[in-house]
Amino acid sequence: MRYISTRGYMGDDGQGVGFIDAMLDGLAPDGGLYLPQTYPTFTAQDLDRFANLSFVELAEEIILPFVAPDLNREQLRALLKKAYSTFSIPEITPLKKLDEDNYLLELFHGPTLAFKDVALQLLGGLLDFALADKNKQVTVLGATSGDTGPAAIEGLKGVNNSRIFMLFPHNRVSHVQRKQMTTTGAANVYPIAIDGTFDDCQKLVKELFNDKKFKEQQNLTAVNSISWARLLPQMVYYFHAWGRLNKKPLAFSVPTGNFGDVFAGFAAQKCGLPIEKLIIANNDNDIVTRFVSNGDYSIKDVIATQSPSIDISIASNFERYLFEVMGRDSAALRQTMDSFANSGKLPTLSKPQMAQVRNTFAAFSANETEITATIKAAWQGHGILLDPHTAVGLYATREYQKTTDALVVTLATAHPAKFPDAVEKATNQRPDLPLELRHILAATEDSSLVDNSAEQLKNFILSQS
Ligand SMILES: *Cc1c(COP(=O)(O)O)cnc(C)c1O
Repeated sequence: MRYISTRGYMGDDGQGVGFIDAMLDGLAPDGGLYLPQTYPTFTAQDLDRFANLSFVELAEEIILPFVAPDLNREQLRALLKKAYSTFSIPEITPLKKLDEDNYLLELFHGPTLAFKDVALQLLGGLLDFALADKNKQVTVLGATSGDTGPAAIEGLKGVNNSRIFMLFPHNRVSHVQRKQMTTTGAANVYPIAIDGTFDDCQKLVKELFNDKKFKEQQNLTAVNSISWARLLPQMVYYFHAWGRLNKKPLAFSVPTGNFGDVFAGFAAQKCGLPIEKLIIANNDNDIVTRFVSNGDYSIKDVIATQSPSIDISIASNFERYLFEVMGRDSAALRQTMDSFANSGKLPTLSKPQMAQVRNTFAAFSANETEITATIKAAWQGHGILLDPHTAVGLYATREYQKTTDALVVTLATAHPAKFPDAVEKATNQRPDLPLELRHILAATEDSSLVDNSAEQLKNFILSQS
């Protein structure tokens, strides 16, 4: 499989780049995002056969065509086994039935209780493999407002030839999230509290990546959600859920921030999975919902909500979908993105393009009251505690089902114990941390406090070399 950039880069030889290079690059050199040159297609017979496979066996079938020839089947199998052995239940991503037309797809049984583990547990192994293969060392640098940091650290701790520096806003992540980052005891992990906000953390990361000399000298690399290697493993659970539900046509409802998870569903559909509709579920930060309803994709200020992992002003993976809906015309896409960068608003798409958008997606946004009401109703009606992100998803499902009788699978993206305040407010129940995680509460923390200054951050990283 070869990869191309949404903005036209096709590798130095014009033939596209391999999976490992696309993974190590993260962002393509022209500022675009990598996508496969073509999607593999799975036939109806393939899909029937997949329906009987375990999660790990299925992952091997889905992921192999995307990583070959850089990895062969045996190499991939070994990495998959290791990655998913860290999940607390053998089914990895189980379905929970709510009623005849509704299932929750639980994606939070990984080590940090968020769906990001599904990708990041595998990414650590892939990175390890790639670095040994290329005889390379990298410095992973990222910023987190809460969920990405623990999942990235948990996935990359102990990975040879890599160090991971994760910035988080001092005193502004939850107690559990901070503990998850600071108690690994791993020598290659550097959690850094920045004296500032999450925006400050992101700005610092950008500044360091923009310093070409520092970037090259340190081999800086990112593991944020624009990395294709993060989207790829997320395709697997769409196939898995479909097989478990007797292969009926399905709609999926996806709590959406940066559009990574929902794009993974779109890619699964491209590969032949019969997905009827992808339901985009936003909170008050509704840029994608506005786009689907009336073509308005424009930046607004971020609103802080009780579902913080989807509080975004732009959806960074949306460019991947635009590229597809624009017929993979990278010149037109580049113009569109330039115009968006200048004006904060996407030029309107054509009528046929918008028709295509609405054929693929439905979109709804849940406000704070609706999120709380959804958590409360699920507790009273089904005895289930939903985290606030999953509640955004289930709200969108219910809205969608007002006009169809479709079978809908709602992606449950975090364990309720990660957001105990929102859950308690709605239900008067305070969810307990699962046993496997309780030890971190008492474990000794190790982190560094750095000023909100690019110079000081660079010096800190250099001093750890
Ligand atoms: C990251 C995250 C999301 C959003 O995923 P995207 O791929 O950015 O759309 C949803 N829910 C939770 C709990 C998350 O951590």
